[in-house]
Amino acid sequence: MSKENLMEKVVSLCKRRGFVFPGSEIYGGLANTWDYGPYGSALKKNVKDIWWKTFVEDRDDMVGLDAAILMNPKTWEASGHISNFSDPLIDCKECKERFRGDKLLEENGVEKAESLSLKEVSEKLKSEKIACPKCKASNWTDAKTFNLMFKTKQGVVEGDQADIYLRPETAQGIFVNFKNILDSCRVRVPFGIGQIGKAFRNEITPGNFTFRTREFEQMEIEYFVHPNDKKASFDEWKEQSKNFFSKTLGVKDENLRFREHDSEELSHYSAMTFDVEYRFPFGKTDATETWGELQGLADRGDYDLSQHEKFSGKDLKYRDPYTNEVYLPHVIEPSFGLDRTVLTVLIDAYNEEKLEDDSERVVMKFKPSLAPVQVAVFPLLKNKEELVKKAKEVHKMLKPHFRSEWDDNGNVGKRYRRQDEIGTPYCVTIDFDTLDDASVTVRDRDTMKQERVKIEELAEYINKKLTA
Ligand code: ATP
Repeated sequence: MSKENLMEKVVSLCKRRGFVFPGSEIYGGLANTWDYGPYGSALKKNVKDIWWKTFVEDRDDMVGLDAAILMNPKTWEASGHISNFSDPLIDCKECKERFRGDKLLEENGVEKAESLSLKEVSEKLKSEKIACPKCKASNWTDAKTFNLMFKTKQGVVEGDQADIYLRPETAQGIFVNFKNILDSCRVRVPFGIGQIGKAFRNEITPGNFTFRTREFEQMEIEYFVHPNDKKASFDEWKEQSKNFFSKTLGVKDENLRFREHDSEELSHYSAMTFDVEYRFPFGKTDATETWGELQGLADRGDYDLSQHEKFSGKDLKYRDPYTNEVYLPHVIEPSFGLDRTVLTVLIDAYNEEKLEDDSERVVMKFKPSLAPVQVAVFPLLKNKEELVKKAKEVHKMLKPHFRSEWDDNGNVGKRYRRQDEIGTPYCVTIDFDTLDDASVTVRDRDTMKQERVKIEELAEYINKKLTA
C-alpha cells in the first residue's frame, strides 16, 4: 500500500465509519476543521482517560488541573507569546496564496528550516527556486512575522472591550496556578501538574487531516524539580513518554523516534528539547517519510515562573520544608498533542488483509483498551424473536462491564466486516444452539477464530482476553 493511499484510506474510513467528519459539512465545511463522530469521540476519550490515569491518577507526585481558556492578556506578555509566538509568512505574488515559509522549504528538502531567520527564509526561497504548490510560479514576497494567537474581544460595551486571546497552549494555565496549588494541596517538589484542554493557533498552513488544525487539544504536564535534579527528571520523562506511545497505546516501535532540537531550533524558553515523532504517511512520493511531532519534551528551566514573578509582582518561590532552601523550581515539560495521538493510533491500527477465499478485509487493530467498542452482540437472525430476546439479555449483561454494542444489521458476515473496520476486538453471536446449550460464539478480531463460550462464563472470558 503506498503512503498516499494509506492516508486517503484512513480519511475515508474515518468518514464512512463515524470516526471523523469534515467540520460544518452541510454548509460546505470550514477549512481544516474536523468533528469527531461517535467512534472517533469514543477513541479520543479513551486516549484521554488512559493518559490521565497513567500520568495523574496513578502517580503520587502529580495533581490535575482544568484552567480557563481565556486568560489575563498579561499572561501572554509574560510567557513571550506576544513577542515570539510567530511563524514566517510568505505570499505568492502570482496567485496570492499564503504559506508558512519554513515548512515549504522543509517540504522541498531544506533541513531544519524552522531555525532560519526571516531574511534567510526569503533568501533560500529564491536560491532554491521553490515553486508555489498552487500555481507553480516562483515569485515570493519577503517573509514576515505572523503571530499565531487568535485575538478576540471581551466585554459588552462597544469601545470598552478588552483585547484577549484564545490560549495557544494549556501550559500557562498551569504556571499561573502554581502558587494556588502549593498553598492548597500538600505537594512537595518534585511534583507535576497535568492538564488536558483545547488550544488555538492561527496556523498559516493547517492540513494533513487532523495533524495540524487551528483548534486542537493538548495533554500537558509541567513537572517542577530542584535545578540540580533536572537532568535525571528529563531522562525519566523521556523514557515514560516513549513508553506511553509504544507500550500503553500499542503504537509500533519502528514508527516512533526521538529527535533532539539543535541550539538554533530551540524555543526562546528552552535549554533542551526532544520531540517524540511518528512516521506519518504524508510523503509526496512513496519514498518520502514524514516524521511528525507527537509530543515535545522541553527543559523550560525557571523561565516561566520567573517571568510570571516579574509580570505579576507575586512571589512564586518554593520553600523546601526539610532544608528551608528557597528557590524557583525548574520545569520539565512533556507536552502531548491529543488529536495527533488519535491520528497516530488510527493510522497505526489500519490493516488490510487477504482472506483465504481471496476476498479482503480492512481491520483496525486498536489495543483493546482503546477500542471504541470492545464487544459487539449479534442475534444470528434479527426476525427470530427468541434469538433477539436472548441476545438482548446477553448485551444487557455485558454492557455494565464493557463498551458493548448491539448490531443486527445485515448478515453476520457483513457485521463482522463492519466491526473489523471500527476495531471491535470481540463479536458475540447468539444462534439457535444458544437456546439449548446456553453458549454463544465468540469471534476474535485478529485471528478470526471462533470459540463456543458458556453465557455464565462470558464476561470473565472477555475480561481475561481484553486484559491479556
Ligand atoms: P509544530 O512544530 O508541529 O508546529 P510545535 O512544536 O509548535 O508543533 P508544541 O508547541 O510543542 O508544538 O505543542 C505541543 C504539542 O501540541 C505538539 O507536539 C502537537 O502534538 C500538538 N500541536 C501543536 N500544534 C498543533 C496543531 N496546529 N494541530 C494539532 N496539534 C498541534
